[in-house]
Amino acid sequence: MGDARVKEEALQILGLFEILPRLVVFDLDYTLWPFYCECRSKREMPRLYTHAKGIMYALKDKGIDMAIASRSPTPDIAKTFLNKLEIQSMFVAQEIFSSWTHKTEHFQRIHRRTGVPFKSMLFFDDEDRNIESVSNMGVTSILVGDGVTLGALRQGLTNFAHNTISSNRNNRK
Ligand SMILES: [Mg+2]
Repeated sequence: MGDARVKEEALQILGLFEILPRLVVFDLDYTLWPFYCECRSKREMPRLYTHAKGIMYALKDKGIDMAIASRSPTPDIAKTFLNKLEIQSMFVAQEIFSSWTHKTEHFQRIHRRTGVPFKSMLFFDDEDRNIESVSNMGVTSILVGDGVTLGALRQGLTNFAHNTISSNRNNRK
């Protein structure tokens, strides 16, 4: 499926939901692209998972901001790859640094930079430790098995809407 077709389907999925996140945050390695960028050379031409670009285009069309939270120890390689893939400018925040915490620091920085509350964010990552610590902050977090896909997007939006409705209900009590 080409990028345009994926984008079309992603837009259809987004159209199913009245409640949408304000910010979607992606991990890089094994979420947007199928490798650890620390093991690669800057001279290589990277590729994304097949659905990744179409999903990002659809989010952009919908006016939903995007950011990156990566614990890669080689931010220079990661940024070179984002440039080569021509997606560098799609992100309002790029937090790429290794840390002992499981991305709580990354999300605090993203929050400071964007002002978006954690409960208005949706996050995709392939490591359950990151999913666990970030969802404890109040971010709807989705574990991906084989990179970000249309199925993961639908799952993420479903969980996001569900979390929003139940937190509003609790606030009213
Ligand atoms: Mg990863």
